[in-house]
Amino acid sequence: MGNADYDAPRSQAAEEDSLEELRARRDAPNTAAVDVEEPESFDLPGAEQLDEELTVPVIPMRADEFRCSRCFLVHHHSQRAVAGEDVCRDCA
Ligand SMILES: [Zn+2]
Repeated sequence: MGNADYDAPRSQAAEEDSLEELRARRDAPNTAAVDVEEPESFDLPGAEQLDEELTVPVIPMRADEFRCSRCFLVHHHSQRAVAGEDVCRDCA
């Protein structure tokens, strides 16, 4: 049975290939997660609001925005009137 001798080294090489693929895939989600979480740290009043309006004129919704439960418009978190409730300053 010489077949087993050929199969062993072949399957080992395949496993090493998939290991490298897994490592490459593990790196990608990590960098993406950092990008997503950055807006969450926006708690300081001021600069970030101007930046948002300049770079993002019209968009449906972002991680640092919320939809008002009364007027159903999307606002930046800085427009939230009550912490923990989706109500903008106009409707409060
Ligand atoms: Zn509102």
